[in-house]
Amino acid sequence: MDILKIKGNTYCIDTGMTYIPFYKINDEKIIMLDTGWKKEERDGIEEVLESNNFKVSAIINSHAHIDHIGNNEYFKNKYNSIIAMSDFEALTCSSEINLKVFYGSQTLESVKEHFGHMICKTDIRIFENQDEISVCDVNFKIVHTPGHSPAHICIITPDDVAYLGDALISYNVMKGAKIPYSFILSEDMKSKAKLYDLHCSKYVVAHKGIYDNIKKLIDDNMDFYEDRAMKIYEVIEGQMTLEDLMKAVIKKFNINVNSIDRYYLIERMLKSYVEYLYDIKKLNLIMEDGFLKYSK
Ligand SMILES: [Zn+2]
Repeated sequence: MDILKIKGNTYCIDTGMTYIPFYKINDEKIIMLDTGWKKEERDGIEEVLESNNFKVSAIINSHAHIDHIGNNEYFKNKYNSIIAMSDFEALTCSSEINLKVFYGSQTLESVKEHFGHMICKTDIRIFENQDEISVCDVNFKIVHTPGHSPAHICIITPDDVAYLGDALISYNVMKGAKIPYSFILSEDMKSKAKLYDLHCSKYVVAHKGIYDNIKKLIDDNMDFYEDRAMKIYEVIEGQMTLEDLMKAVIKKFNINVNSIDRYYLIERMLKSYVEYLYDIKKLNLIMEDGFLKYSK
């Protein structure tokens, strides 16, 4: 893994699949913006930190997804780091039961097994009405961008570098993504549009890019998500249950569903698009023979 300099004291670790930004307080102490994925990234990130003699004084998370907070508790234990994240995301990853609220369709045992390592204690909670935060005496600006996750935030470092987390995806991800994940697509779209108002020196997208200007990237992201929603809309014929729809979408997009976990993930992804189509009044929801069905 490499370290890339972005601007001033703001750098990022390139894990191959993700950019994890960090802010250098001095030659030894850093503040990480997200901590990456446990399974594929922990060893590499740890090696980079150790070879540079960095100690993680604090962690600020964009959102509580497995590939963004996967090493929070591990680094907190190792470096005694302070963790800051938005209030709701902090609640989500505060216990097994609260993780189960988010991963509702999975059993508690499955949640424990797959997501248990995400549980961490958040020291500083960032509230909805807060647009800045001081961590280790360093001030960061906060932009609230709910949608990709319930309380996703973008974090702007003192070097005027905006870390956008998963509020946008890069062109590479667009090329490979069949249905990109969103929690509430209608809110996610509003948050993407909100990013037009940012005027920062640099922008970092977690998966994975560094940009001077994001106007076109925002346009293209919104078109991409809209296009995917319309492709799902095209699949709907007559009246379909969510399961019928899922079968048809898996076939159309040629999605490989080879495990129960993957089934749940695809189901969650599809649901946010179906709800979006309902929110923008393209779909009706009806009851027929005791089943919920969608129709155009
Ligand atoms: Zn995410």
